[in-house]
Order: sequence, then C-alpha cells, then structure tokens
Amino acid sequence: HQNWRFIVKITLIKGDGIGPEVSGSTRSIIDAALELHSDLKIDWEVFNIVDGQLSEALFKSLETNKVAIKGPITTPIGFGFKSINVFLRQKYNLYANVRPIKKIIPTRYDESIDLVIFRENTEGLYAGIEHVISEDHIVAEKVTTRSASMKIATAAFEHALKLNASKITVVHKANILKQCDGLFLETVRAVAKKYPTVELVEMIVDNTAMQMVMKPSQFGIIVTTNLYGDILSDLAAGLIGGLGLAPSANIGEDMAIFEPVHGSAPDIAGQNLANPTACILSGVLMLEHLGEMKAAQAITQAITAVLDHADTRTKDLGGTLTTSEFTDAVIKRL
Ligand code: ATP
Ligand code: MG
Repeated sequence: HQNWRFIVKITLIKGDGIGPEVSGSTRSIIDAALELHSDLKIDWEVFNIVDGQLSEALFKSLETNKVAIKGPITTPIGFGFKSINVFLRQKYNLYANVRPIKKIIPTRYDESIDLVIFRENTEGLYAGIEHVISEDHIVAEKVTTRSASMKIATAAFEHALKLNASKITVVHKANILKQCDGLFLETVRAVAKKYPTVELVEMIVDNTAMQMVMKPSQFGIIVTTNLYGDILSDLAAGLIGGLGLAPSANIGEDMAIFEPVHGSAPDIAGQNLANPTACILSGVLMLEHLGEMKAAQAITQAITAVLDHADTRTKDLGGTLTTSEFTDAVIKRL
C-alpha cells in the first residue's frame, strides 16, 4: 500500500520481570495494525530501567513525546527506592488513572461486566509520607486536596458525557475518614452539580467490594481515591479473568502513559508465559488517545477473536499458548 507514512515518536519503557515480554508483544502488534490501517508509523524510543535508576534521557523523551507505553516495574516491598510507577505519576502530574474492565471471555458471571475505574493518581495514601514516631509507632499521611479531587471527578464526569452514561458511582470511606474522604466526597458532589444529566451514586468502599462481587453489572463509571482504586481495580480484574486482561491509562494535562494494571510477575518472568493482553489493550487505549481509531478497533477485534477459543489462550486463562505464540496469533488475525 502507501509508500509514505507520517512518523510519530513514542516512548517505550520496557519494564522488568515480564515487562520486556509483554511490551515487546504490544509493540509488534501496534506496528502491524498501523501498517494495515493507518498512514502513521511509530518510531519507538526504547528505555530500560535498571535498579530503579531513571535517566535524564528518559525524562527528555517523555517530555518531548508526551505519550508512552510502559511495562511493569518491580517495587521492592518494605525497603529500597520509592515506586517508579508512583514517582512518574507524581512527577508529571498524571492525575487520572483510568482502568477499564470489560468481560471478553466467559466468566463465573452471566451478567455483562463493562466498567471503568477513575482512580486519583497523585495523592491519598500513595503520597508516601510516613513518619517514624518510634520503633513501635509509625504514622502514614493520607493526603487529600480539593484540586486533585476536582481533577479526577471532572475526568470521570467528562467521560460519562462522552459515553452518554446516566450515572457515576463515587467510592469513599467518609463515614470514618470524615476529614480527608469527606473533602473528596464533597468535591465530587460539587463537580456533579455541573453535570445534571449524570446521577451521582455514593457508596462506601467496603460495601463496594461486596457489591462488585455480588452484582458487577450495576457498575459503569467509578470515581475514587488512590488506594481504593488500586484495590478495587485488581478485584474487578479478577471478575473478568485476572490481571492478564486489565489495561490502564495515566492521564495528565499534556502527557499520557499507558501500562497494564499488573505488576512485574517475577514468578513467571522470562519464561514466555505471560499474558500480554493487558499491555496490548493499554496500547489500544494509546492508539485511541492518538486518534488512531481504526487500528485500535482492529486490535480489539483480533484479540477478542483469538481469546474466543479456549485453546488459543495463554496459561493464566487455562490455555496453552506462550506469549510469543499468542502475539503471532493476534498478528495473523489482524
Ligand atoms: P505490583 O505491586 O507491582 O502491583 P503485585 O504484587 O500486585 O505487583 P503482580 O506482579 O501484578 O503482583 O502479579 C500478581 C499475580 O498475577 C502473580 O501470580 C502473577 O504471576 C500474575 N500475573 C500478573 N500479570 C500477569 C500476566 N500478564 N500474565 C499472567 N499472569 C500474570
Ligand atoms: Mg498490584
């Protein structure tokens, strides 16, 4: 077909653990889809992160390109450097973590599951401010600001308008955390007033966890704080087949980083076993962000078709395909 194409530079952070496997798969599938469905071609700027060290070159690439795909990066538990994931979200004020959860393979549920979690991404308990009062007494600060709460609420309501959705569920614990979750809830209520066509449903986080398991089809758009959003999105991923299927977008004023919800999965790293779907679907969100709707739709259709057969799934979904075999099957389907 056409022998000239627009070139756009995108930053690709390979990540560690299963990161290089799933981000490599994503890259080849996006390249194949664009080749078929667009006059755009991506010139990938590829970065490795070793031992938690972020380079100036990476910052420059992100600041110039404004769009990135990122594989998962391990965060050491209980010691060592601050989470790189959290660091990047805070450094670039990527205030909205958008996590769509959609049923694409059969689950325990007959009902449809198609929801999206808008998780505040820069503060809450992830501010990472901990004080050692004494060896036996630690205090962590949960930060809530009106401005960050307003931004995440506005992002969720704008999304509702775009989808013509009739309601948003705000998830909180303002009955106990009267001040900080109180401010979050109050701010979301104030934003809701500007969107009279969208009903605001208020739900306490522990009840939400139960409701999600009992009747997931009642949820469409959820807006919540950082920690609740993290936990509920893993729960929601579990409803549709696990972390291998859950993509996400970190959105700021002028930058967006797309990454799978899952971590680096050290237990299966380097064995060609990982399910790349979560990372590929994050790539689909990136293509939509770039306005490449045809390529995005083509990948979604190809993935759905491949996952439709039990024998062309990866091991986490009970299938037998390796990461690279699954990738080849999706490209063939494209
Ligand atoms: P983090 O703190 O970075 O979120 P985590 O402790 O939540 O990490 P994950 O790395 O997300 O842990 O892994 C949780 C479990 O899910 C592991 O058993 C892992 O093997 C499995 N898992 C995660 N992602 C995938 C994937 N893409 N394909 C198959 N299995 C996966
Ligand atoms: Mg996790």
